[in-house]
Amino acid sequence: MFAFPSGSSPPTELERDGNSVLVLPETEDVIYRVLILAYPARSHQLYSLSAADLDSACAVHEAAQKYQFTYAQNLLVEMLMDDTLVDAHPHRLFAIAQLQDLPSLGQKAALSTLKLPFCPPNLTFPEMGLLTADKMQKLYDFHRLCSDNASDIFRGACGPLEEHEIGVDSSLSVDDNDFTFVWWVPHSHDGRCGPESDFESGVVVPAKWFRDLMQPVIPKVRLLPTVTNVVSEIAAARVEPWSDCEMCSAEGRKDVERFAIRISRILANKNETSDISARELGILGF
Ligand SMILES: [Zn+2]
Repeated sequence: MFAFPSGSSPPTELERDGNSVLVLPETEDVIYRVLILAYPARSHQLYSLSAADLDSACAVHEAAQKYQFTYAQNLLVEMLMDDTLVDAHPHRLFAIAQLQDLPSLGQKAALSTLKLPFCPPNLTFPEMGLLTADKMQKLYDFHRLCSDNASDIFRGACGPLEEHEIGVDSSLSVDDNDFTFVWWVPHSHDGRCGPESDFESGVVVPAKWFRDLMQPVIPKVRLLPTVTNVVSEIAAARVEPWSDCEMCSAEGRKDVERFAIRISRILANKNETSDISARELGILGF
């Protein structure tokens, strides 16, 4: 027979009706939550966790593990992995993941922190005091690295490039570039439109209208280096007309949309596989 502890007094051995009573060190609230999660008719789809529920998340997870309520433990992790919850409290979920050794949650939370500014104001939560400064610093390092990834990708895609790197065959690409985009196509433009070559330095840059279009996007994407932000900032940067050039006017919009998808995929891949990757943060902890 189990009994909940009363107040903060230490566990003691008791007897009731001739049977031993084991006093559990966890609070009534924690045990109640474990049992609710373990009840077979329950499903995580019937629940959503609030910020207040996170206060006991570590204790409930630890209790479920201690008493071998594996199903309840897994159910809790599924609930913690909820997209809305992670996006609302990414730093706190990251801390909980580290404290409870939950790599998948750690990775998801680390990537979600990219949707917020580098140092969000008023970043305080109970688990923060349990993490060393080094652990949180790693998370900030990850954010900075992903910002650098975004800058590098955009700067690489906007040139300048060595002339010999741009192949005659338009299917060739260098790094993150795709030379089928109209701003790289070397012919059929009107007037002064088209990629520009510097004969002295031997470098080529894409059409000016494209460079102008991307210039304000780069710092914004650096601030929030996420796939969603890349797509939305490029979409917001649209200016009509694209160019006085007939070919760029006809092809520009479609190619910029293609560019946004391509760049966001490259960024997502780099963010997940960087030296300080979200995966590493999640799996290895600190
Ligand atoms: Zn053109």
